Amino acid sequence: PQFPEAQFLISAWQPHQFPPDQGKEVAFVGRSNAGKSSALNAITGRKDLARTSKTPGRTQLINFFGLANGHRLADLPGYGYAKVPPEMQEHWRKLLSRYVENRGSLAGVVVVMDSRRGVTDFDRQMLALARERSLPAHLLLTKADKLNRSEAARTLKAVEAEAGTIATVQLFSAVAKTGLDQARGWVLKQLSG
Ligand code: GDP
Repeated sequence: PQFPEAQFLISAWQPHQFPPDQGKEVAFVGRSNAGKSSALNAITGRKDLARTSKTPGRTQLINFFGLANGHRLADLPGYGYAKVPPEMQEHWRKLLSRYVENRGSLAGVVVVMDSRRGVTDFDRQMLALARERSLPAHLLLTKADKLNRSEAARTLKAVEAEAGTIATVQLFSAVAKTGLDQARGWVLKQLSG
């Protein structure tokens, strides 16, 4: 099943702006340009859903999307913009860690990464934050259409080995639409679990 009911709720730059901490929420995080918006759109089956998150001025905010049954998806700010002033980066970093540490409804974290790059320090930091709370984490190795079969298999194996028991891992492509059911299944499982 897709998420036809998904709709933008609010962009928050401070915790007091977050929607009420009820129901369940799955958060998506990833370096800028990793393919997070494309993944969110593909997984929800809503072409334009994450366009909001791309609107200038909103890339640094946590964008919340409402789902059926009072559940939500949260699009966490992409990190890795070298051009962003240090104090702004510091604000994101704090916002991100406070969100992951304190959000009671947070039921799982999807870390979106470009399958052609290795696991970055930022990805590791996010996994560590999730782990501190024993939250389920899922690594989405996106842009898998850019890899040939053996490269894809090798990448999956290497990241699985690094993730160990901390996170589950899968190949994904928003362009080729591969791994969609698996990704949706993971999200749905955390929302219903
Ligand atoms: P975000 O900054 O993490 O939200 O990344 P975007 O979703 O905007 O994607 C960044 C760039 O990667 C864009 O040029 C996308 O078209 C491209 N992209 C995203 N997902 C895929 C994918 O699965 N395959 C390929 N080939 N390109 C992708």
